[in-house]
Amino acid sequence: MGLFQKLVQGLAKTRAAIAGGLKKVLFLGRRLDEDLLRELEDALLEADVGPRTSAALVAEVRAAWKAKALASGDEVAPFLERQVAERLRSGGNAIARAPKGPTVVLVCGVNGSGKTTSIGKLTKFLKRGGGKVILGAADTFRAAAVEQLAIWSERNGVEIVRQASGADPAAVAFDAAAAGQARGADYVVIDTAGRLHTQKNLMQELEKIRRVAKKAIPDAPHETLLVIDATNGQNAIRQAEQFHKAVTVTGIFVTKLDGTAKAGALVAIRDVVGVPVKFVGTGETIDDIAVFDPDAFTAALFDA
Ligand code: GDP
Repeated sequence: MGLFQKLVQGLAKTRAAIAGGLKKVLFLGRRLDEDLLRELEDALLEADVGPRTSAALVAEVRAAWKAKALASGDEVAPFLERQVAERLRSGGNAIARAPKGPTVVLVCGVNGSGKTTSIGKLTKFLKRGGGKVILGAADTFRAAAVEQLAIWSERNGVEIVRQASGADPAAVAFDAAAAGQARGADYVVIDTAGRLHTQKNLMQELEKIRRVAKKAIPDAPHETLLVIDATNGQNAIRQAEQFHKAVTVTGIFVTKLDGTAKAGALVAIRDVVGVPVKFVGTGETIDDIAVFDPDAFTAALFDA
């Protein structure tokens, strides 16, 4: 099965929520009026698109209606699809690349979001593209996290830089970046803690990792990827906002898009947080990763 078919299949529940909700509102021949706009907003909220983004989309429909670009209910769905795709396209979806030397990719996200699995998938993806990858195990807070990352490094046949459990995560990040440079790696992918005693500690630690990584490679990290679990719906949006405030996130990896009815949240994450979605996870195996394709994703949401 192609990745796109897999995504289409995985999004069946969200599609049912969005397309099904819209169909009830936007049927053929229905007059476009304020009642319809209210119901449209409710349908978007119901599909986890979130209050801010739902209101913004409805405002765009209203503006097009007032400008006489839209006249009836059935014209709204294709208009909405274009507006959503445009939002998801902005900012570009390609992973950053260092102008020379290794590209340092810092990966953050809360425990359970699928961070380690996503690093495993990303490693295979980058390797397949011809890149030499080194992993850095900077989640030294949990011994199990280092072990899990070591398993993914073995599966992918790539080197892992690690230290004893409890070591300074920033020191591991520095070592990994330095090793990447010394060994001519194309990518250094660094795992970070997903939970500490307090949220403040976690954010301070991420900040320190960024600072210390720069001592090995001045413009590192080139990419700070945040892993977000799509099944968390509205909570996922709040989480993304918090991380972005603490460490400037440059890309989002949305996991567990397979089988959730809450994929509408992805639109809100992009819109509210202002960071492009770069990868999506569509299952538990190493190959269940896709570069985010805004048009394919939008089509999969709307085209029932
Ligand atoms: P971490 O604590 O954030 O490092 O999370 P893990 O990588 O250990 O993943 C937590 C669980 O989510 C595991 O059972 C993974 O198999 C699962 N998982 C990760 N990504 C996906 C995905 O894209 N789809 C599905 N269905 N499960 C996923």
